[in-house]
Amino acid sequence: MSAYRINSGDLPTRESRLHRFKQRSTSVIPIDEYVDSMGNSKYDAEVIETLFNIQGTQCAVCLETVENPTITTCKHIFCKKCIYQSLKHRKECPCCRKEINPESLILLGKANSDSYKITEGKASLMGFVIACENGNLAVVQDYINSGKVKDVNMKGVRSNGWKGYTGLMMAARYERLDVVKYLLSLPQIDVSLTDDTVGWNALHCACYNNKHSLELLKLLLDHSTCNERVINKTDNVGRTPLDKAQYNNKGELKNEIIDLMRKRSAKSQSELEEGATLQYFKTHNSNYILHVK
Ligand SMILES: [Zn+2]
Ligand SMILES: [Zn+2]
Repeated sequence: MSAYRINSGDLPTRESRLHRFKQRSTSVIPIDEYVDSMGNSKYDAEVIETLFNIQGTQCAVCLETVENPTITTCKHIFCKKCIYQSLKHRKECPCCRKEINPESLILLGKANSDSYKITEGKASLMGFVIACENGNLAVVQDYINSGKVKDVNMKGVRSNGWKGYTGLMMAARYERLDVVKYLLSLPQIDVSLTDDTVGWNALHCACYNNKHSLELLKLLLDHSTCNERVINKTDNVGRTPLDKAQYNNKGELKNEIIDLMRKRSAKSQSELEEGATLQYFKTHNSNYILHVK
């Protein structure tokens, strides 16, 4: 059954022509506005990630790079031509078989803002974690105040595409002091969390890259969810935050960071291992070293 076939016995009325026109002319929504309208589910986060790389996204129908990207209500993306062609045969999504009304398709247009930049005060294409990374306090607060982000420890994708980072980690890494202050003022914030890629916590991030002031690191260290276990957390290759300062920080503050960490009983990987019986255990996303005397 084709919605496009004209019944030859009956000339189409103006209304039915308009109706068919509507079915063909998909509504166009700028890609950043579309992302802005999305939720915070894990599924939506994955779709957002695809939308960030729309130029490299493959159409499941023609297997080429998607052309005139068109998104379904089940959030699968196809070439405009391919999805309409496919719907002529079956009114369902070629990916997940969900029933599709052609009128519900959305053609993703060019982003309103250049290269996915954030418009001030408005949570747009950049996700919460990326807003923290960019130090855009207004956007970060908007995500929280509007209820778009319900869990401040929510893990998301950072600007380079790596997954499983909290906003606090990214704000700490890029020395976004205002954002860090704000996040630490929220009741649920947890300094001890580690990312899902390299197993760093916020202290690793700060020790790795802070170059301008010790204040951010002090705030993290003084937080109620920070303790000796967090300070000496080993990442996926066994490095502690102190190791990050010693081996990776190239800033002038490097030695002051090391001193500060030392005062809070920070140890390096080798010190943790020295003369100790080591016990490793794995969690779903990281390794811990237990220091047993
Ligand atoms: Zn296609
Ligand atoms: Zn689908």
